Amino acid sequence: NEFEDYFLKRELLMGIYEKGFEKPSPIQEESIPIALTGSDILARAKNGTGKTAAFCIPALEKIDQDKNAIQVVILVPTRELALQTSQVCKELAKHLKIQVMSTTGGTSLKDDIMRLYQPVHLLVGTPGRILDLARKGVCILKDCCMLVMDEADKLLSPEFQPSIEQLIRFLPANRQILMFSATFPVTVKDFKDRYLRRPFVINL
Ligand code: AMP
Repeated sequence: NEFEDYFLKRELLMGIYEKGFEKPSPIQEESIPIALTGSDILARAKNGTGKTAAFCIPALEKIDQDKNAIQVVILVPTRELALQTSQVCKELAKHLKIQVMSTTGGTSLKDDIMRLYQPVHLLVGTPGRILDLARKGVCILKDCCMLVMDEADKLLSPEFQPSIEQLIRFLPANRQILMFSATFPVTVKDFKDRYLRRPFVINL
């Protein structure tokens, strides 16, 4: 397989090649075409397999850069992962006019509110802070058709799970959920059964 096979926007393809990716990794080969069809996904994927690009590429492809709205939210369990993931998105989106923002607990809420006055297409962050912003009405999620949960096994800890369930209520009915997890504990299986719709399961 080749990245050309997915008929991605030319600017996105340029970003992919400039990052030095020549061919899709196995997880990307499975997840990119499925995610582009709009299907929900539950993927078992370890770090180092290329999973970040496996969800960032379809996310960036689906975003309409001419529409000023948050269209994708990527949930992660830590601040470091939020920064890394938003960096990957920014690099892949280098030739696109897509605005990426990351936000996590423990940083200034006021700064986030100011940044959300500017256009943001893709938001990466931890569940509690994003829920806070959604509740305040400064982070509008009615056009957010894609929710990504990276390290879903960690996200579905008692610390985050209630916030994620609340956050899902702010999404439109036609939302797509992509879950990536290193392990499939009962918390992940239970969440899948309750929130995913006929998910495509990737088990590499
Ligand atoms: P990840 O599993 O997302 O943490 O990615 C692991 C490493 O693989 C990162 O350094 C990526 O930049 C790199 N990578 C991801 N996809 C590809 C690809 N298709 N070709 C080459 N390297 C890749």
